[in-house]
Amino acid sequence: MKLKVLVVAGDGIGPEVTREGVRVLKTVAELGGYDFEFKEAPIGGIAIKQHGSPLPASTLDTALESDAVLLGAVGGNEFNSLPPDRRPEAGLLQLRQALGGFANLRPSFAYPALASNSPLRPEVVDGADILFVRELLGGLYFGEPRSWNRDTNEAWNTMRYTRDEVVRVARVAFELASSRRKKLTSVDKANVLEVSQLWRATVIEVAAEYPDVTLEHQYVDACAMHLMNTPRNFDVVLTENLFGDILSDEAAVITGSLGMLSSATVGGQINLYEPVHGSAPDIAGKGLANPLGAILTSALLLRHSAKLEQDALAVETAVRKVLEQGHRTADLARGQAGQPIVSTQEMGKLVYQSLNEMIDRRQAMHAV
Ligand code: NAD
Repeated sequence: MKLKVLVVAGDGIGPEVTREGVRVLKTVAELGGYDFEFKEAPIGGIAIKQHGSPLPASTLDTALESDAVLLGAVGGNEFNSLPPDRRPEAGLLQLRQALGGFANLRPSFAYPALASNSPLRPEVVDGADILFVRELLGGLYFGEPRSWNRDTNEAWNTMRYTRDEVVRVARVAFELASSRRKKLTSVDKANVLEVSQLWRATVIEVAAEYPDVTLEHQYVDACAMHLMNTPRNFDVVLTENLFGDILSDEAAVITGSLGMLSSATVGGQINLYEPVHGSAPDIAGKGLANPLGAILTSALLLRHSAKLEQDALAVETAVRKVLEQGHRTADLARGQAGQPIVSTQEMGKLVYQSLNEMIDRRQAMHAV
């Protein structure tokens, strides 16, 4: 197994948490005998300082020559006065566009050890394991025409999808559902929106290719409620861009901390992997950042780009074990009196030690 990974750690806590994600990937490569090659390049605020652009041409070129891109986070208060197209976040948007991924995957997983971190009752979140597949390049965020006419005090956006755009993202969602618990919930607002009627008709068409997957449809408003009442009833949730943006943030409360959330954007030329959180300037450089979102993002890279499912599962299990042993970064220990706190680096080390032990045991079993 050979894989070229570009690491764009970015700003704030980006480099701290990405370092731990890369360390885990290196551990997996070493133990499995895989040939992972890592290159680093600047993006965001650091790239503005070094190269005058949030996405230097050299970073983009290296990204396009890679098999996968692993991102930390971009942004910082010192750049807030720049116009939107010159800010660090513009670099990330340009990179996402250039890599072309149209399906954003966001797992929402309830860790029993973190049940008290969720605002939902433990008996509600217990066992929840949802994978959102959000269409990322279409819908209201990109549709034309769009404008704000200040003379007439009118503004408008356009929600537009083609059948082909729905087919390709639906196939990604059905494939993933096939490999999980074989249930797909497609979210729309087909009682009001024509775009949703096209969405629903197309998803039903694609469903015929996946007879082993049970398809259900939910209106977005009802789905928002069911996610909080009965999160265990969901497996894969397929949504258009705007609905997915809102629902995946809503469902993040199941996991209990922003620092635990991972994401992957797939379907384009090159997959992009990034934790959900931002650059967190308030805690940057203090060893307070939770690296588990970045480490779980590395697990997604192992699953979707390296196709190493067993190793991806091993990383996810190592994270679960470390939490079960009671180790907490500051964000996870909040409100839990007397909870010992580990630093970003210590948490990373605990995960790769646990991973080492697990992979060693697996290899020993194979050798018998
Ligand atoms: P944020 O996600 O950076 O932080 C929100 C809160 O969560 C903060 O209190 C922060 O300390 C905490 N937090 C975030 N990640 C954490 C982690 N891993 N461990 C512990 N605590 C964590 O969002 P924000 O404050 O709205 O934005 C800060 C900067 O990040 C802005 O410049 C914003 O534009 C940028 N941003 C970037 C991305 C990205 O790169 N994908 C995403 C969101 C925001």
